[in-house]
Amino acid sequence: MSMFQRTAIALARSPGLGRAMRAVAARTSLAARFVGGADVDAAVRTAARLREAHGIRASLFYLGEYVDDADAIEHNVAQAVGACRALDHAGLDVHVSVDPTAIGYMRDDALGQDNARRIGLAARRTVGLGRDWMVLDMEDSSLCDRTCALHRELLQAGIPAGLTLQARRRRTPLDLVWAIRQRTSLRLVKGAFPERALDHAGRARIDQAYLDAAAIMLSREALESGFQPVFGTHDDRLAGAILELARERGWPPEAFEFEMLYGVRPDWQLALRRLGYNVRVYLPFGGDWWPYAVRRVGENPRNAWLLARTLTSD
Ligand code: FAD
Repeated sequence: MSMFQRTAIALARSPGLGRAMRAVAARTSLAARFVGGADVDAAVRTAARLREAHGIRASLFYLGEYVDDADAIEHNVAQAVGACRALDHAGLDVHVSVDPTAIGYMRDDALGQDNARRIGLAARRTVGLGRDWMVLDMEDSSLCDRTCALHRELLQAGIPAGLTLQARRRRTPLDLVWAIRQRTSLRLVKGAFPERALDHAGRARIDQAYLDAAAIMLSREALESGFQPVFGTHDDRLAGAILELARERGWPPEAFEFEMLYGVRPDWQLALRRLGYNVRVYLPFGGDWWPYAVRRVGENPRNAWLLARTLTSD
């Protein structure tokens, strides 16, 4: 992790700065770049605009993570359920992303499970078919077994649940063995929670692990079981290798997706769309934008000007 990224993460974790930034303005240039709207209606408008203008789909994510206050948990759940209803009403995919620690897993797993079921039921229009999913994000390693278990329970209950797995984690190929036999959506990311004891070390090894996991996701067995691979990356070199593999293995373009964060590499999002591939953006909304947006800045030093502008003049 670079010094720049460490600084950004420290800024993201500062509660005082976070409160101050929320109070300054709902739409600083930083928020506008990485956040799809201050509330659900604005987020759905952004999603509709992307769909209409570019054929880009969206997954709505209500900002707020690692929450242990009962009222805040209930608020997060209500926002996710509201997002499902609003997307349905707008005729868009009912697709939401959910952090287990935002909906109860910081307090009690049973509460988190109940809340996940509530959101999943709101996302269910056509069970396991089409492009309606509640996708579970993957957080730090303490949540990994619990999130995988939740994913299984939801699928067994007929809820259209998807899962995120992190390529940097050495256990991921084992988790994939089960997942590729299910009618589920599986988003593969490099992983944002490094843990030396559990991970592949270094960029080259993580990239190779990503490709190895992608090869499992694009296996014949996965194609035959109705599994939906999603490649959550902005790395065009990896995407090129994945496209080649998909072609070799006979995957039609409509059977898999690339997913990127709203505001990150929009040029590459559009390029993939022009080539006829499915692109989705992970579209965060809500007022608690500071930690999320500053982490995005930290991922690329070229974003530093955005942070400087927000802190000085917005
Ligand atoms: P990188 O090698 O980091 O980047 C590839 C290229 O994209 C580089 O050129 C880089 O400069 C550019 N780029 C990357 N980020 C930015 C940015 N912010 N601004 C400008 N350029 C940028 N992680 C988890 O641990 N759990 C999750 O549940 C999770 N969900 C995710 C969902 C989606 C849809 C995506 C796209 C990412 C998610 N992540 C999650 C984050 C992920 O793990 C990576 O940390 C992040 O995507 C950066 O990795 P990359 O694959 O884009 O590759």
